[in-house]
Amino acid sequence: MSLFSGISREKIPWYPTIDYDKCTGCQECFNFCRNKVFKWDDDNNHPIVSNPYNCVVGCSSCANLCSNKAIKFPTRQQLLESINKIKQETSSSR
Ligand code: SF4
Ligand code: SF4
Repeated sequence: MSLFSGISREKIPWYPTIDYDKCTGCQECFNFCRNKVFKWDDDNNHPIVSNPYNCVVGCSSCANLCSNKAIKFPTRQQLLESINKIKQETSSSR
């Protein structure tokens, strides 16, 4: 059974956050992600996280790809803490 089973995706705070001060608009992340998490903002020449919950929980490939370190994710520890909190809330409301 998965660690995340029974938890709706929208409750899990796992998605990229972009630091626009560091982003140079290279499009690597936008071209790489097949899950349509990013939309391209032509006016500002940078990606927008338009579908955050399409991001695969635990994936951080685009952050590793970004040579400017402009993409951030929560740490694994923060992810596990969030999941545990959600599980506790769910079981206490039953
Ligand atoms: S890979 Fe990094 S620098 Fe390139 S568009 Fe994405 S966030 Fe910006
Ligand atoms: S972490 Fe993976 S699924 Fe999420 S936006 Fe980046 S490439 Fe897409």
